[in-house]
Amino acid sequence: MSEFNYAKYLNPNIAEAEYTHNRAAEDLTYAVERAQETCKHEFVVYDEYQRLEYLRSLPPIRMCLQCRLEEHAPDLWRDGDKAWYKGILNPTPDTMYIKMNRDKIYRLRVEGSKIVNHQRDDD
Ligand SMILES: [Zn+2]
Repeated sequence: MSEFNYAKYLNPNIAEAEYTHNRAAEDLTYAVERAQETCKHEFVVYDEYQRLEYLRSLPPIRMCLQCRLEEHAPDLWRDGDKAWYKGILNPTPDTMYIKMNRDKIYRLRVEGSKIVNHQRDDD
């Protein structure tokens, strides 16, 4: 008995839209990777360590608005300011460094964007 030919039942409009969607996702990933390779990270948003009573606490987080590279301090590190001197998105006198709500930062994430999680051993 031959294998069930499911392909003839697929809606061609969905298949075409799916193809377009996947191509766009590849383009987005490519654009993000290129941007992150060359970005000077001059506009960075961040949120501080948050202690949560019933859940695991949230580490300091920051993201470059220009290339969306995201960086997390070590989970157990409670001294957020100290953590910022050990990463990729280090503030310089030329960096615009703006505090932003963590959920807003999460919503800026894009497909293909790099998230760097620093371990406690980094220091
Ligand atoms: Zn950047």
